[in-house]
Amino acid sequence: MEKLIDNHGRFIEYIRIAVTDRCNLRCYYCMPEEGIEYVPREHLLHYEEIERLVRVLAQMGVRKVRFTGGEPFIRRDVIHLMESIAAIPGIEALHITTNGTVTRPFIPQLTNLGVKGINLSLDTLDPQRFKEITRRDVLQDVLVTLDELVDAGIPVKVNMVVLGGINEDEITTMARLAESRPVDVRYIEEMPFNGGGHEQQLTWRDHRYILGQLTSAFPEIKPVKAEKSATALSYAIPGFQGKIGIIPAYTRTFCGSCNRIRLTPEGVLKTCLYDRGTFNIRDIMRSGATDEQLKASIRDAVAHRAKDGFEAEKQGLQFPLSSRESMSTIGG
Ligand code: SAM
Ligand code: SF4
Repeated sequence: MEKLIDNHGRFIEYIRIAVTDRCNLRCYYCMPEEGIEYVPREHLLHYEEIERLVRVLAQMGVRKVRFTGGEPFIRRDVIHLMESIAAIPGIEALHITTNGTVTRPFIPQLTNLGVKGINLSLDTLDPQRFKEITRRDVLQDVLVTLDELVDAGIPVKVNMVVLGGINEDEITTMARLAESRPVDVRYIEEMPFNGGGHEQQLTWRDHRYILGQLTSAFPEIKPVKAEKSATALSYAIPGFQGKIGIIPAYTRTFCGSCNRIRLTPEGVLKTCLYDRGTFNIRDIMRSGATDEQLKASIRDAVAHRAKDGFEAEKQGLQFPLSSRESMSTIGG
């Protein structure tokens, strides 16, 4: 097998698939209140097309798939897509990122599928604040999902976007979720992908600030070794069951070991979170490309990959930022 290695020597073994750009929440840092201009349904990649792509990628060494969105569980029958991807030879790990609002009914099937991990987005434990951030009053549903996932034995990472002046006072409280149960708690720097819904924050908080807050509250916190390709800086607090992670998503300190590519709901292959996309896989497939032609296009995209998120962003500046530039299209 000829592995997928980029022009900087990084081996690609992980794809993140945004199965939809639609969502039942309206997190203000991700989309405006009225939503974004959604991709028309006929433009979405079909499940058979996603499955074919993953089969081809598995032949090129991809081992890990994450389903994200939008909210993955609001696309109809997504569980069947997950089942068929899990059955592809070579795919060893399925992961999901979800807001946890409509996830509960799928927990038994996810357990049977052997899902390796679920990232649950949760920015606050305060119901009123949750409503202000997500524009929906459903914190309780997310908390029940968290408990049920833990009870089902599925590894959970709680992801909190740190929003200066809004939820930063909960950094310590959120860490305590990892004390009493085996969940990791991770803090994400806010990125400028909000669908044009609001101005960049005045008090943006970076990973150093977050670590400073955690160190003040837990002086015994210490760094621990993480996987080479991990995006999170990893820490342990003595007595806590779960780990603590800080993701410098905007500061971008992790690009050197990045092993992932991304697929948007309409089939655009992204080789960096910050690029404007390379080519549209759906168009190539629907024009009758063979698997070998598909592989050649993927290899070509990966062979021209930006060194890091800053280079990717710079290369994209010539293209106007779309009003749809929302994290729900990129998948986080
Ligand atoms: N709807 C699912 C969810 O919220 O988990 C999956 C998609 S969501 C786009 C994936 C992740 O991106 C979530 O953890 C979310 O908090 C994060 N995210 C969205 N917009 C962001 C932004 N502007 N900056 C940083 N993280 C963001
Ligand atoms: Fe929906 Fe996730 Fe975006 Fe929130 S972060 S609006 S839950 S896609």
